Amino acid sequence: MKSIQKPIVIVGAGFAGMTLALNLKKLLPSLPILVIDAETKFIFKPLMYEVLSKEVQMWEVAPDLSNIFSAAGITFLRNYLKRINFNEKILEFSEDLKISYEYLVICTGSVSNSFAIKGVEENCYFFNNINDLKKLNSILKILNNNSSIQKLFVVGGGPSGVELACKLKDIFQDQFSINLVEKSNEILSRNKIFNREEAEKALQTRKINIFLNSTVKEVSEKTITISKNCEIINFEKDIVIWTAGIKPNISYINQEVSLLKDRILVNDKFQIDNINNCFAIGDISIIKGMEGLPLTAQVAMQEGNHLAKNIKLLIEGKDLLPFEFQDNGEMISLGIGEASISGIGLTFSGKLAFEARRLIYASKLPDVSKSLKSAASWLFQRKSAF
Ligand SMILES: Cc1cc2nc3c(=O)[nH]c(=O)nc-3n(C[C@H](O)[C@H](O)[C@H](O)COP(=O)(O)OP(=O)(O)OC[C@H]3O[C@@H](n4cnc5c(N)ncnc54)[C@H](O)[C@@H]3O)c2cc1C
Repeated sequence: MKSIQKPIVIVGAGFAGMTLALNLKKLLPSLPILVIDAETKFIFKPLMYEVLSKEVQMWEVAPDLSNIFSAAGITFLRNYLKRINFNEKILEFSEDLKISYEYLVICTGSVSNSFAIKGVEENCYFFNNINDLKKLNSILKILNNNSSIQKLFVVGGGPSGVELACKLKDIFQDQFSINLVEKSNEILSRNKIFNREEAEKALQTRKINIFLNSTVKEVSEKTITISKNCEIINFEKDIVIWTAGIKPNISYINQEVSLLKDRILVNDKFQIDNINNCFAIGDISIIKGMEGLPLTAQVAMQEGNHLAKNIKLLIEGKDLLPFEFQDNGEMISLGIGEASISGIGLTFSGKLAFEARRLIYASKLPDVSKSLKSAASWLFQRKSAF
């Protein structure tokens, strides 16, 4: 076995980094591991909608990273990665902190992508992290107190847009007229057919207007401009929520690194092309030969789990194993107390699917901290708040 002089450094403690760190510690208890993240909290993104509807509390889906890691015997540091000097193997952080590494894993996830469309950054709300969630929650509360019906647009007919639109309609009912804008000719175009059909029914039942083949051209303070079938239409709006795209969070990367579709190109062992002892997993990476894998927590967690095994093999001087993705199906929440599940031979929807979704997510929560254990027990025991 090789002797590791410095800790394994993992930057990013989301689904990929968290799974990697906790599994690696279990496999090699004496291995020093340093995890660094810009935030103090882990965020379980698939349950962010349930925070808006108060089906779960913020603390339940956003536990403290330092609690999780200290309970597992892993060192955690809060800091923001600004640059990597791959030649000298040095990480440069905010506040002039520099850390050298022997083995590095980067897994810094993704950020919302406005595609440089005029007015989107300034005049839209986003739904990708804990700060977005807090901002959206506050503005919705303010608009909810308004006496007139508020015009709300959700841009993006992917899972985030559809789940958000259904949940908001159930929370606020007729206080908002909700419009879903999608540039292709169907919603959930990359999802399983059963879930798509259930989502279409859920949107229809809730009388959510769907604009297909519609591209947002501009968002101003008071209006949203949409191009549909070559026609330009201006709508008055009170709020626009942008879920139309994400991009990898890799502003610290320089030109030495090969990218594909803007993501870091890795081989099927997660090694970054031409850079020794550096790995990338989760939303920031794309695997050569497996370019179609979705950007999901399911993929990120499987990658983190596999990389933990590979790092053990690496330290033992053995050959690394290629990653194989196992599709465990997909789950979509469709309003308060409703969901749709499709995969591993099961397709069902409604209240039973909602309960099953909660149980499955509870089992996925890292179970090392008190708050997380409590969140899991909440999910197992408590009945829907509605
Ligand atoms: C609203 C929403 C709902 C979703 N629902 C589902 C779902 O139902 N099922 C599913 O499978 N997937 C879902 N996803 C997708 C899933 O959450 C992502 O694919 C997953 O989080 C990717 O994991 P990751 O570890 O790559 O990134 P993340 O989980 O985003 O973690 C990245 C971490 O890196 C940190 N970081 C970023 N930049 C820096 C830096 N420069 N320095 C230090 N730290 C940094 C961040 O603070 C963060 O903690 C959803 C996403 C959203 C937004």
